[in-house]
Amino acid sequence: LGVSRAGGAEALGPANLAAFAFPGELLLRLLRMIILPLVVCSLIGGAASLDSSALGRLGAWALLFFLVTTLLASALGVGLALALQPGAALAAINASAGVSGPLEETPSKEVMDSFLDLVRNIFPSNLVSAAFRSYSTSYKMIRNNETQVKVPVGDEVEGMNILGLVVFAIVFGVALRKLGPEGELLIRFFNSFNDATMVLVSWIMWYAPVGILFLVAGKIVEMKDVGMLFASLGKYILCCLLGHAIHGLLVLPLIYFLFTRKNPYRFLWGILTALATAFGTSSSSATLPLMMKCVEERNGVFKHISRFILPIGATVNMDGAALFQCVAAVFIAQLNQRPLDFVKIITILVTATASSVGAAGIPAGGVLTLAIILEAVNLPVRDISLILAVDWLVDRSCTILNVEGDA
Ligand code: ASP
Repeated sequence: LGVSRAGGAEALGPANLAAFAFPGELLLRLLRMIILPLVVCSLIGGAASLDSSALGRLGAWALLFFLVTTLLASALGVGLALALQPGAALAAINASAGVSGPLEETPSKEVMDSFLDLVRNIFPSNLVSAAFRSYSTSYKMIRNNETQVKVPVGDEVEGMNILGLVVFAIVFGVALRKLGPEGELLIRFFNSFNDATMVLVSWIMWYAPVGILFLVAGKIVEMKDVGMLFASLGKYILCCLLGHAIHGLLVLPLIYFLFTRKNPYRFLWGILTALATAFGTSSSSATLPLMMKCVEERNGVFKHISRFILPIGATVNMDGAALFQCVAAVFIAQLNQRPLDFVKIITILVTATASSVGAAGIPAGGVLTLAIILEAVNLPVRDISLILAVDWLVDRSCTILNVEGDA
C-alpha cells in the first residue's frame, strides 16, 4: 500500500531496492548467458540439417509470414491511433499551458545512416566483437566557414550484434552441409553443443517463475507517480495494449487456425511460460531459450524447424514493436498537431516494419529505432522521451507479441 502512495523506491532506499531486484536480475543474467551459444549453435545446426532448397523454401515462407504479420500489426497500430486519438487531448493541455515540448533536443540519426548501420551489422567485421558490440553511426559537428556540418562517424557500441551472428551462423551451417561427410563432425559438434545448452535451459526454467516474479515486483516498487503517468499518457498506453491484445489474441491465432485447423489457444497455452518470461524480461532474446523449449516439448514443433526459425524470428520479427511504433508516431503527430496525409501514413507503415527488423530484442530496443520513423515523416524526435516514460509497461506486452509471432 505504501508503494502505491509514496513510491516504494524512496521507502526502501537504493541498497534495499537493488537487493529486492536481485533475484530477477539473476534470471536475466542466466538467460543472457545462454543466448550466444544457443543462437550460434542452433542456427548452424538448423541450417546444416536442411538441404538448400528446403532451407530456401522454409526461410522464404518464414520471412513472408514475418513481413505480412508485421505489416498487419503496423496497420492495426495506425488504425487504432487514428481512431482513438491518444495525442489529441494531451496536445490541448500542452497548448493551453504553453508547453512546446517535454524535454531537450536529442541528437537525431539520419534515416539513411540507420539503414546503412543495419546492413553493416549484417556483415560484422569481427566475429568476436560481434558477440558483445554492434556498429552504430554517431555524429561530429564540424565548423566549415560559417556553417556547422554534421559529419557521420562510425562507432562500436555496447550490445551484441545478434543480426550479424544470425546471418553468419546460417551461412556457416550451409557451408558445413556443402562439405558433405567432411563437415559432419563439426555439425555433430554444434548439435551436441546445442543439446547441452538446452539442458541448461531446462534447469534455468525451474528458476524462471521466481525470477519473473521479482523482475516485475522490482519494477513496481521502483515506480513513481504512476497516477500522473496514466492520466496524461493513459490513452496512448491503452492504444498500445489494445493493439497488442487484438493482434496477439485474434489476428495471429486466426492465421494459425487458417493454416493448421488446430486450436490456436492450446498452442498459446503451451508457450505460456515463454510468454510470461517475455513479460518479465522485456526481451525477445532473453526469452528465446525458454521459447525453444516450450514449442519443442509442449507444442511438438520439429527441432530442425524451431532451431532455425526461432533465433531468426527473435532477431528480425517484431510485430509488437512495429505496432507500438506506429501508435507512437501517430501519437506524436497528434501531439504536435501535424496532420498525417496518405503518403505519410504509408511511410509510417513501411518504416515501422523495416525499423522493427533493426530493433534489438532487448528492453526498449524498439524505442531506439522509433527515431527512424519520426525522422522519415519529419516529426520531432525529442518527443520520444514521452514514449520512454511509459515504455517499461508497453515494452512488456510488446515483447509478448514479438515472441508470440515467432512461435
Ligand atoms: N523489448 C522488445 C523485444 O525484446 C523490443 C522492443 O523494445 O520493441 O522484443
